[in-house]
Amino acid sequence: MRKLREGYRGGKEVTQLYDFEDEKVRRFLKQREVKRAAVQVPAGLKQYLSKITPAFEDVGVEVLVLAGSCYGACDLADVKARQLGCDVLIHYGHADIGLPTCLPTLYVEARMKVDPSDVIKQALPEVKFRRLGLVTSVQHIGYLTKVAELLRAGGIDVVIGKPGFMAKYPGQVLGCDLGCARSIAGRVDGFLYIGTGEFHPLGVALATGKWVLAINPVSGGLKALAPDVGIFLQRRKAMIARAAAGERFGVIVSTKPGQARFKLAMKLAGELKRAGKVAHVLVVDEVGPEELGDFGLDGFICAACPRIPIDDAERFERPILTPFEARVMLGKTKFEPYQMDGAIKEDF
Ligand code: SF4
Repeated sequence: MRKLREGYRGGKEVTQLYDFEDEKVRRFLKQREVKRAAVQVPAGLKQYLSKITPAFEDVGVEVLVLAGSCYGACDLADVKARQLGCDVLIHYGHADIGLPTCLPTLYVEARMKVDPSDVIKQALPEVKFRRLGLVTSVQHIGYLTKVAELLRAGGIDVVIGKPGFMAKYPGQVLGCDLGCARSIAGRVDGFLYIGTGEFHPLGVALATGKWVLAINPVSGGLKALAPDVGIFLQRRKAMIARAAAGERFGVIVSTKPGQARFKLAMKLAGELKRAGKVAHVLVVDEVGPEELGDFGLDGFICAACPRIPIDDAERFERPILTPFEARVMLGKTKFEPYQMDGAIKEDF
């Protein structure tokens, strides 16, 4: 990954970064005559809890904050909320990915109230692409049209892809659904990502093989990420070779509803067995070395969150492969063109 330029500042001071849609929350609670609500917040929003709970207190609703990890809308805690006697679940920080729920669930997307226009204007000279794909996370999705207009006024052709299987909005990417970027990759020279962090732009770069300019509207930072395809592919190839020497595998599936790719896990276990390997389907909530290390297996195939083998492999003592890589290991498909793992309907 190469860094073009960092610390390009243009961001503004903002006191209330997120829109917690208090009015919508109060309406939802009142309409359902809720007595007790469960609240789920991802790590990045936990510090804002005291700004979230007053909306519940205003209408006399008891709040239980589910304080465990919450990685995405894949991690919906509706079953836990029901066990705790809650009438509803309010899930903050992610858009609905279409999971069925066992009790009424409201998604508060927590969109950021930071207009990226000034940063985009300052960044325009850095944009060398004539045809640009525009992608973002749900936090900035409300500004996508405005940004597209700004770029078009600067003489750039802008393309916004349709949402993939898990995403809700055009232009929205998730770690496990880069479909909207992939679908337009052949029509653009590169991508512009609006948002914070490198998790999503890195995913877009690896899935499309294109340069990604990541613009952070909060810090005003601008960074160009190139998919270091060579190094990435080398690392993954080495991981497959290490795994191939093994005999006993765990196929991991998570109980988190959006990560419960059971059909895929069963299929992979069958393929491993037919190839003469030993395979166990391991069901966990959190996928980590603590949960899986004691089984004494030679390697793992991840049918849970698609990003775990890519972003967290070094946490595991044993090789951990994506489903695609497992099929490469079994000689069922070729390593190139490399396919990033992503959630599709048929796998659940
Ligand atoms: S499955 Fe993984 S990448 Fe997808 S939303 Fe959940 S945590 Fe994020």
